[in-house]
Amino acid sequence: MEKEDISGVNIHPIAIRLLSWYSEYKRDLPWRNNNDSYQIWISEVILQQTRIDQGIGYYLRFLERFPNVASLASASEEEVLKVWQGLGYYSRARNLHQAARQIITHHNGILPSSYHGLISLKGVGAYTAAAVASIAFGLPHAVLDGNVFRVLTRLFAIETAIDSPIGRKMISEIAQSLLPEEDPGSYNQAIMDFGALICTPLQPRCNACVLQESCMAYAKGDVTIYPIKERKTKISNRYFHYFHILQGNRTYLQKRNQPGIWRNLYEFPMIETMQPADFMQLKQTDAFKELFPEVTTLSFEPKLVLRHQLTHQHIHTRFYQVEIPERVTFTPPSALFVTQSEELHNYPVSRLMHKYLETI
Ligand code: SF4
Repeated sequence: MEKEDISGVNIHPIAIRLLSWYSEYKRDLPWRNNNDSYQIWISEVILQQTRIDQGIGYYLRFLERFPNVASLASASEEEVLKVWQGLGYYSRARNLHQAARQIITHHNGILPSSYHGLISLKGVGAYTAAAVASIAFGLPHAVLDGNVFRVLTRLFAIETAIDSPIGRKMISEIAQSLLPEEDPGSYNQAIMDFGALICTPLQPRCNACVLQESCMAYAKGDVTIYPIKERKTKISNRYFHYFHILQGNRTYLQKRNQPGIWRNLYEFPMIETMQPADFMQLKQTDAFKELFPEVTTLSFEPKLVLRHQLTHQHIHTRFYQVEIPERVTFTPPSALFVTQSEELHNYPVSRLMHKYLETI
């Protein structure tokens, strides 16, 4: 692709227009105020699968509690999960924590300043390595995220599916060819902001777009068919029934040990069913009889019904509140009891549990 020569620096016309748009419209975000690589890394991880308005609060709280690699590495995983609570995709927090320990052990406590050093860290993939390398260290690595895929497939009307190896390679090459040598970090942020604010998924603002005359999808008159995908994400449905058990000022929590979502987080005792189940159906299950061998519940209606959406799963959830008289001997399997008013809030819980606790 041809680049213009401005003051001795080769730069593609699309990059010029994106950078000029960015200098005027870039979002004022706290991690853009300095070049601290640790802060940029944390912001990039928090913003994956998180809206910016929600991410800012978490970013500020995370940095207040863990201001540098050393403080993050020396914390317990439970402390890190607690600060992350409510943000979802908890593997990001676990990976950040393990990566901080890796940095202490293998990199003298300093975040690596090369792409290869960054990508060797736990949980750091191509996107995060390119973002941190370019923004914090000025290295020429183009980022590829959903925004970039959308902008580039529309600009060049790319018909190849972006979830095919060939499509991904093609877009990666185009992204790299547009990247200016000078200040690649600003360019990367510019194209991502542009995708988030102008070239949006459903109603792109083509009339306000500084790239309109170069946009092949616009010229064809059909922008929203891009990006093209081969596979639809397969969604599975799961049915969770939680029991918020109250016995005086006590309630019960279990630690989720099994691999998969929410590992090492705490939750109320729960039963998962293969199909939707109301309370009467639930009562017939072996899991229910094991959990409540002799107890008559006082409430049959769920206190809260929620549908929680993850990338590949829809979790249909019912929270029941069950009151058990103090005189009754009751010990749910592998549960720990905590005081409802104080201790309950010290444990890291999933976003779903967090929503319930906020509601009550
Ligand atoms: S003209 Fe529309 S589709 Fe093309 S880059 Fe601009 S906003 Fe996106």
